[in-house]
Amino acid sequence: MHEHDVIVVGAGGAGLRAAIAANEEGADVAIVTKLHPVRSHTGAAEGGINAALQEGDSWEKHAYDTMKGSDYLGDAPAVETLAQDSPEETIQLEHWGMPFSREEDGRVSQRPFGGLSFPRTTYAGAETGHHLLHTMYEQLVKRGIQVYDEWYVSRLAVTDEDDPEERDCHGVVAYDIKSGNVEGFAARDGVILATGGLGQVYDHTTNAVANTGDGAAMAYRAGVPLEDMEFIQFHPTSLPSTGVLISEGVRGEGGILYNSEGERFMFEHGYANNEGELASRDVVARAELTEVNEGRGVEDEYVHLDMRHLGEERIVDRLENIIHLAEDFEGVNPLEEPMPVKPGQHYAMGGIETDENGETCIGGLYAAGECACVSVHGSNRLGGNALPELIVFGARAGRHAAGGDVGEAEITTGKTEDIEPGEVETPVAPGAVETDEDAIADGSGATLADPDETVQRAVEAERTRVEHLLEKDEGVQQAEIREKLQKTMTENVNVFRNEEGLKQALEDIREVREEYQDVYVNDPSRTFNTDLIHTIEMQNLIDLGEAITLGALAREEFRGAHWRQEHQERKDDEWLKHTLLSWNEGSPELWYKPVILEGEEKEYEPKVRSY
Ligand SMILES: Cc1cc2nc3c(=O)[nH]c(=O)nc-3n(C[C@H](O)[C@H](O)[C@H](O)COP(=O)(O)OP(=O)(O)OC[C@H]3O[C@@H](n4cnc5c(N)ncnc54)[C@H](O)[C@@H]3O)c2cc1C
Repeated sequence: MHEHDVIVVGAGGAGLRAAIAANEEGADVAIVTKLHPVRSHTGAAEGGINAALQEGDSWEKHAYDTMKGSDYLGDAPAVETLAQDSPEETIQLEHWGMPFSREEDGRVSQRPFGGLSFPRTTYAGAETGHHLLHTMYEQLVKRGIQVYDEWYVSRLAVTDEDDPEERDCHGVVAYDIKSGNVEGFAARDGVILATGGLGQVYDHTTNAVANTGDGAAMAYRAGVPLEDMEFIQFHPTSLPSTGVLISEGVRGEGGILYNSEGERFMFEHGYANNEGELASRDVVARAELTEVNEGRGVEDEYVHLDMRHLGEERIVDRLENIIHLAEDFEGVNPLEEPMPVKPGQHYAMGGIETDENGETCIGGLYAAGECACVSVHGSNRLGGNALPELIVFGARAGRHAAGGDVGEAEITTGKTEDIEPGEVETPVAPGAVETDEDAIADGSGATLADPDETVQRAVEAERTRVEHLLEKDEGVQQAEIREKLQKTMTENVNVFRNEEGLKQALEDIREVREEYQDVYVNDPSRTFNTDLIHTIEMQNLIDLGEAITLGALAREEFRGAHWRQEHQERKDDEWLKHTLLSWNEGSPELWYKPVILEGEEKEYEPKVRSY
């Protein structure tokens, strides 16, 4: 058994920042991660980090833009914390040596991004995430923070009180991808989940294969509510054949969207008469698909993004990476022709319910980064607001877990007196399949014990699960059911949603869940067994796909990224509330809590959101 004060699961931007902060508080901190830190998906972030750094800008403006972008479903204390802390955290990165792009006079450059009232996005070429990871990794090495890389965390060690708010997390269980051993990691002070996004629930995504929502699914099964899962961001400019992202930085620098008739449709068809291509992402994604659905798409599938008029010098200086992506993945030279683009799954606004200090309702369990929902993005994230979320809330979670003083949180977690029970009519029963002995495959069997034994009992349960998966030699393979899940999610739980499609998705997910009971691993080896890892991840995709769809079916309004055919307006009287789903003895329980619009000095009054 390994033992540390603080265990951070994940080594992307959020995990690295949390570990550095815990180390600064004097904690013995270790990172456990399935990928080497610099291979984390944060490295794919291209566009930049929002921070109010310049004269004329302010944290108040950043907070206002974020609340408006969230369609008034962000919680003001979290949004204001993000806007207030982001400048200091960004400057900290600069002091650690992050090579930000600069103006002639030496100041850090900032560019416009969608939904921002000021050019507030700092960047390092079109490789911001890559430099952010490397800058923080250097700090990790300098401080001698221990990293267990290629260790896959598959279970949390949590005590078994009936009420999740009374449970404690004492560590995690991880599978060593290099040796095949399953071992325990005890955490004396706290476990911080920083496991990133869940894009693999969909088949057209800008996310990496490793983005399987592991942390969110493990926390959910341990009793932590998932918040606002229905809000999935579809980025307007992914490459059609692979889902690879073309950064919003292209539109930020002046890139233009055209339909097949050569019309600049954002203006010419009135989708965003003021901001055009730089409207919020949900607005642009819906506009593109409307163009395609109304017969003005190119090859009935996509639209064109043109940046040729920016000139080679500027493109090479600020967006060089984009030239390579378009050439390598689409065979298009964007210096000479427009790039094909269409919406692709990009980001999960929802996730593990936390407060501003990263705490969940389970004692000693924290979450930060994309896997968490604090909530700063509400129903739609603004471009450039995820990276500051990683550094701001990663740092706060790390400090708090290590016993540092970060102040009292205003946001509450778990079931408090403010909650409202929810109901949703489903065509099939969601949640765990009635168990027989095979159900051990899904990792939802009880591992709970009294606090002292918690980690060891969790290790034993996980060893049994892995042995079971490896011993079984027939059944269904994860790849087949993964494809089924991804297809139904892309078809039915996408940019445009309706009741019939959402119910169809729930039926399909139920089928996939039942088939998963019969899953087996084709590769019996103990080392680098990716089939085994993907099989364990598959369980997480099922639970999260179901949570997204249940939330989408329950929310009968159109807000931010959540569009419903039958409910064409934002309904503030009824729906200014967060959707929560708890895994209640294997069955998802729906409830709501009010959104907090009261900020430090003012209330953010919901207004019509136009760009
Ligand atoms: C292509 C792309 C471009 C983007 N560009 C921008 C941008 O310009 N600006 C912006 O603000 N946002 C951007 N975003 C969003 C932003 O980059 C992500 O939300 C953010 O980087 C996620 O960081 P993270 O630390 O939460 O997770 P990640 O960076 O994904 O890291 C997750 C970590 O968790 C580990 N992990 C996961 N599961 C397990 C497990 N079971 N066991 C052990 N370890 C595990 C992984 O190994 C990894 O180290 C972009 C997103 C994409 C996909």
